[in-house]
Amino acid sequence: MKKDDCIFCKIANGEIPSNTVYEDDDFRAILDMGPAAKGHTLLLPKQHADNIFELPDETAAKALVIAKQIGKKLVDKLGADGLNIVQNNGEVAGQTVMHFHIHIIPRYNNDNQKIGWVPGKPSSEELLEVCKQINA
Ligand code: 5GP
Ligand code: ZN
Repeated sequence: MKKDDCIFCKIANGEIPSNTVYEDDDFRAILDMGPAAKGHTLLLPKQHADNIFELPDETAAKALVIAKQIGKKLVDKLGADGLNIVQNNGEVAGQTVMHFHIHIIPRYNNDNQKIGWVPGKPSSEELLEVCKQINA
């Protein structure tokens, strides 16, 4: 299903023009309008899902394979030195457009970008407690 007021539904389904680098029956990949680095691409399913939890398993499985293929092409064609694949779910996690998407970001030596987090320093007891909580 498409969602009427969703900009990524409109872009994915070709109702709004985009710089498309990949398209098939289920997905479109476009250049991000605010790229972290040259070639920063967004892979969008044509069917609306707010986030990864709403995405059908079959679509999720296909998405990673396609992201891998696009990533390879970006690295080869643009001469990148590395690649980040990033996927945000929920405002607190940095999601700003509530239509599932995967960021495929070519990285270049000296691109001065930072994609990451501040590492915590949990004790081994704290890690064990988290592990128990998850597995309970
Ligand atoms: P998020 O923060 O939700 O994971 O990522 C949203 C991304 O979509 C951002 O990197 C932003 O630059 C990009 N974006 C938002 N609106 C548009 C748009 O209309 N066109 C394109 N090409 N990119 C968009
Ligand atoms: Zn949508």
